[in-house]
Amino acid sequence: MSNPNSVRVRFAPSPTGFLHIGGVRAALYNWLYARKNGGEFLLRIEDTDLERSETRYTEDFLKSLKWLGLQWDEEPLFQSKRLDLYKKRADELVEQGHAYRCYCSEADVEAMRERAMAAGQKPQYDRTCRERKTPPPGASTYVIRTKTPLEGFVEFEDLIRGTIRFENADLDDFVLIRSNGAPTYNLSVVVDDVASRMTHILRGDDHINNTPKQLHLYRFFNYPVPKFAHLPMILGADKKKLSKRHGAVSANAYRAEGYLPEALLNFLARLGWSHGDQEVFSVDEMVQHFSFDHVQKSSAVFNTEKLLWLNGTHIRNTTAERLLGIVIEDFAEFFDPETSARIDTAIGVELVRLIQPKVKLVKELAEQLVPLCKPGQLEVDVATIKWGKDPGMKSVVQAAVRHFIELVSKKVEAAPQTPRKGKDAVWGSSPSLGDLGMSHQDVDALMRQVGEQHGIKLGELAQPMRAALTGKLVSAGLFDVLTVLPWELSESRLKRIENF
Ligand code: GLU
Ligand code: ZN
Repeated sequence: MSNPNSVRVRFAPSPTGFLHIGGVRAALYNWLYARKNGGEFLLRIEDTDLERSETRYTEDFLKSLKWLGLQWDEEPLFQSKRLDLYKKRADELVEQGHAYRCYCSEADVEAMRERAMAAGQKPQYDRTCRERKTPPPGASTYVIRTKTPLEGFVEFEDLIRGTIRFENADLDDFVLIRSNGAPTYNLSVVVDDVASRMTHILRGDDHINNTPKQLHLYRFFNYPVPKFAHLPMILGADKKKLSKRHGAVSANAYRAEGYLPEALLNFLARLGWSHGDQEVFSVDEMVQHFSFDHVQKSSAVFNTEKLLWLNGTHIRNTTAERLLGIVIEDFAEFFDPETSARIDTAIGVELVRLIQPKVKLVKELAEQLVPLCKPGQLEVDVATIKWGKDPGMKSVVQAAVRHFIELVSKKVEAAPQTPRKGKDAVWGSSPSLGDLGMSHQDVDALMRQVGEQHGIKLGELAQPMRAALTGKLVSAGLFDVLTVLPWELSESRLKRIENF
């Protein structure tokens, strides 16, 4: 049994769509608050809308939350399995005089609303059945409504917005059980928040108008009212509520793009919350510093550029081993089996380490890694190579490359036949220049020397070499790649420049 005073919070999504960014932020703030306070973070699937709820969305929630590392502490609760309980609680409220059965038809209620509006009042139910002792003759179906006090007000201290007050007269005798026996959101949510002994309710501010109704239900159920924090909305760059129009909005879509979970969490934590002017947070730092004192009231604008920048930063802050694992797990479709076997090696890790500082998405990393790890020749778009202003330059550059290959090959032949350091069998037995003791600087110096001898700039020599070696004009550093790839492979690729 946990400490009865400890923080208990929950994330309670409805499985009517994939886990989206707003949901992730609600889950994150709850999770951070629980972790920070040594409390419990629970997951509840609000699948009472049997028509719109789908198992695939629930599966997406579980998978996405796991990917994000927002682990829940108890078995998730499924509301669809608790329908009898909600009905029972509503019947108890009727017995206790907090609620009543209303036999008016939907058409009756609609007519009441219209009459109220015509009289310049709020469109509300007119409370016809509030004091009814017996059902009207012939009535079979009913809804259960609350006996909301006719006067007075309810108020609560929102951890973000301060005191919020609602007049009871505005709340209506709201429905708890529909005519088909299904609970309304306000009933099921409070029954479960009571049953799960919630201490704090942290959710999107689209629920702010539900909170006064829920306050009455807590009172009916005799449960100490939890503390509330309503998180401001997330807006797109056009200041409209974030939606599919703004591009990827599901957590899984971000994963497929090559975002790291901690980058997404960092971004969402900072969206509306601050800790001084720190921008980059590890997950541990977020837990350490999180508090509602520094959550802003106004809605936050989703800035894709910033998310991308943060992702690049977190890519640089993590290990090449982990990134390689992500590439293999999430971008497997990029590789044929032969290439894949070469990726999952120590050379693969070294190559990731070279690419890592240059990319902002793991997907980009995967794209640059594939050609480096492929056995044999690459497809090169020769037309994109610039050989210099003078058409005669091409043959000069080709001669320089030939010269470079000769010089390196001599070194390789002269090297003692020591076993290769990189012990990756699938890459063959040829040593890399690094294995022969050549550093980034040595390769740089050698290329400069060759360039000078042939009267061309380093860039003019490097461009076709980069294209032949990496299949791309933008890649990890050429010198570095040369020190890591087995020379036999580099040599065969560089030799093709002869025919470009
Ligand atoms: N199922 C509700 C939603 O997804 C949860 C609201 C709450 O946290 O109370 O918006
Ligand atoms: Zn009625």
